[in-house]
Amino acid sequence: MKKPEDYTEEEWEAICNRCGKCCLIKLEDEDSGEIYYTDVICRYFDEKTCSCTEYENRCMLVPECIKLTKDNVDKISWMPASCAYRCLFEDRPRPARQPVSGRVISETRVEEDQLEDHIVDWDDL
Ligand code: SF4
Ligand code: SF4
Repeated sequence: MKKPEDYTEEEWEAICNRCGKCCLIKLEDEDSGEIYYTDVICRYFDEKTCSCTEYENRCMLVPECIKLTKDNVDKISWMPASCAYRCLFEDRPRPARQPVSGRVISETRVEEDQLEDHIVDWDDL
């Protein structure tokens, strides 16, 4: 099986299917550490193109936006199980792309204390 380190940079970037699920706002249960996904999405996400409008500066603008690399892909347990990188790393088949467009709301339109009301349990996360 091809390992992450065997991919060229170009091949590595191409693995992402641009579903947008890693751009959803997540909540963490302080006691259990469990991660909950919401249908609220990062302010820099463009629903029309299903992509980041600040891709080059993303890690600077959004500290919790972590660049997935061949070295950290195994350590990011909060990535959605359907993420193409997680599937690759866990040696699971990659599911068909199911973009978040059309079912999300920008974080600019949701108060922080309302985030809990936006927790979702999508089958394709
Ligand atoms: S900065 Fe861009 S890549 Fe990072 S979470 Fe926001 S929309 Fe997604
Ligand atoms: S969840 Fe994975 S496959 Fe989907 S956009 Fe994010 S990095 Fe790409």
